Amino acid sequence: AAKAAGKDRVVAYDVTLRENQLRRIAVVDRLRTAIGTDAIVVHYQPIVSLETGGFIAVEALVRWVPPGEAPIGPDDFIPAAEDSGLIVPLGEQVLRRACHDAAVWYRRYGTTLTVNVSPRQLSEADFAARVMRALHDAGLPAAALILEITEGVLVGAGAQADQTIAHLSELRRFGVKVAVDDFGTGYSSLAYLRDLPIDILKIDRSFMPDAATGDPAQQVALVRTIVDLAHTLRLTAVAEGVETDEQTTVLRTLGCDKGQGFHYGRPAPADRTAEVLAGVVTPAVPPSR
Ligand code: C2E
Ligand code: MG
Ligand code: MG
Ligand code: MG
Repeated sequence: AAKAAGKDRVVAYDVTLRENQLRRIAVVDRLRTAIGTDAIVVHYQPIVSLETGGFIAVEALVRWVPPGEAPIGPDDFIPAAEDSGLIVPLGEQVLRRACHDAAVWYRRYGTTLTVNVSPRQLSEADFAARVMRALHDAGLPAAALILEITEGVLVGAGAQADQTIAHLSELRRFGVKVAVDDFGTGYSSLAYLRDLPIDILKIDRSFMPDAATGDPAQQVALVRTIVDLAHTLRLTAVAEGVETDEQTTVLRTLGCDKGQGFHYGRPAPADRTAEVLAGVVTPAVPPSR
């Protein structure tokens, strides 16, 4: 009986696997059609200076809004876009749109722009040229742009790793900055700091102290260690996923440079972001608790 049950489980697993594959193929088909249209929308989340409290940057975050349907978040289509290679045209569309939106914000308020880039984009031979063209076409100075890469960028890249490093080095010579996103969650974090030309560490939101989930002293010690590591290496430290006033206080005490999270504002469309930066509306934040 145990054997039969085990066999059933294997069959059930295969069916789920197959269903997942089919779903992913369907996503890729629909995404291919959406790219290049205004079903691809870019939202912006503010990043604040922990010293002044001012909005000094915005992060571009892609959403997919199929006409007449609920928006789809990046976690539900970026993996399929990466596997299929669609991330290259998708990433280009996001970059160009974001540079365009941010050019006026930079001119008016000095707000810089940070954009997520996938490993796949960085392995394209003309990646640096595409970025420079997007900046030029939008009228955004290179110094106003930050590219966020994840620690996965060198994993399995083989010979492409040199290409990736060359692109980032070239862009940095023009003034573009490079941030390591979700720092502390991947493996070989320290090797990345050694091997990649970078300017900023974004501390993953799982490190934000949360009294409900563990020992506060240990949590704070971890954040302090990452902030100190960043500063020792002359990097800027940015905390992600800041949701409370208490976290803000801790981060300020530790000398963390910048913060990003629902506490300062959720991601919002460009028109709303323009109003937030102009100071005519306050950003949407969660209800106080
Ligand atoms: P990320 O780059 O680490 O972006 C931060 C994510 O955390 C965003 O999720 C944001 O909405 C969410 N977040 C911000 N503040 C808080 C907070 O206080 N609490 C919590 N719980 N979450 C917060 P989102 O927009 O769903 O994006 C998820 C991921 O998808 C991004 O993580 C990034 O890795 C990827 N992504 C988004 N847009 C792009 C893109 O244009 N290109 C690429 N390659 N990846 C993208
Ligand atoms: Mg990011
Ligand atoms: Mg992140
Ligand atoms: Mg992430």
